[in-house]
Amino acid sequence: MGVLDSFSLAGRISVVTGAARGIGRALALALAEAGSDVAVVVRTPSSADDLVAEIEKLGVRALAVTADVTDPDQVAAAADQITDGLGPVDILVNNAGVGLHKAALDLTPEEVRHILNVNIDGVWNCAQAFGRGMVARRSGSIVNIGSISGVIVNRPQWQPAYNASKAAVHQLTKSLAAEWGPYGVRVNALAPGYVKTEMAPVDDPKFKPRWVDDAPLQRYALPEELGPTVVYLASDAASFMTGSVVILDGGYSVY
Ligand code: NDP
Repeated sequence: MGVLDSFSLAGRISVVTGAARGIGRALALALAEAGSDVAVVVRTPSSADDLVAEIEKLGVRALAVTADVTDPDQVAAAADQITDGLGPVDILVNNAGVGLHKAALDLTPEEVRHILNVNIDGVWNCAQAFGRGMVARRSGSIVNIGSISGVIVNRPQWQPAYNASKAAVHQLTKSLAAEWGPYGVRVNALAPGYVKTEMAPVDDPKFKPRWVDDAPLQRYALPEELGPTVVYLASDAASFMTGSVVILDGGYSVY
């Protein structure tokens, strides 16, 4: 296989969670552009109408299914719907996530549970639901969206529950890579720095000195800039890569 051919996802079936907006939307389009059929998991059915049309315009099949990733039954039902609608899943991108800027002493137990529930249990539920088929077929690639917050502590805002949840995503990535590697299933994580989405108010002047000026590239990323790395991790171009946490942060975490 030629070098560029190894990046092609033609004939593959991908799933992206939390794809209605932000990073997930950009990743779904990138995977489609690389040639795979794409199923998007969203919470509100109508929120993916435009995205499905955009994916289909790229000449591949698209399917939107509804699930809250914190509910294992909904995730299992979504996995069945996707397999019935498109076929066995080759690529899973666990992107759905939530964040909250709040100091440790101010967080309520409900807020902490919610963050850990979506960011850890959600990844767990989807990895288990889709990983089962991958392990059975001895093939598959999972990309979990972690964060630099799983590696460093962000400033100036405090977000301890989010930071802990993303560190857990990184360690779950390595644990699943170890377990499923012998079955030909690769599991990696992407750890982005600041990316302009609803979750990250990158244009707010109070964050600029720390979020933007402190990074060697002195800017934030747009969601589209994450697509090529996820395509790489999902594809045969990364055939020897598993258990890795790839940091993509404009150099933010060098300091
Ligand atoms: P957004 O808030 O823009 O999008 C988050 C997506 O997750 C939404 O589509 C949302 O669905 C979905 N989601 C939230 N909770 C659930 C749930 N329980 N079940 C299903 N879907 C859910 O955030 P980003 O695009 O910025 O973030 C995407 C991922 O990237 C997250 O994991 C985040 O932690 C990570 N990340 C983001 C960074 C950034 O700077 N933006 C940096 C590093 C990592 P709905 O539309 O229904 O609300």
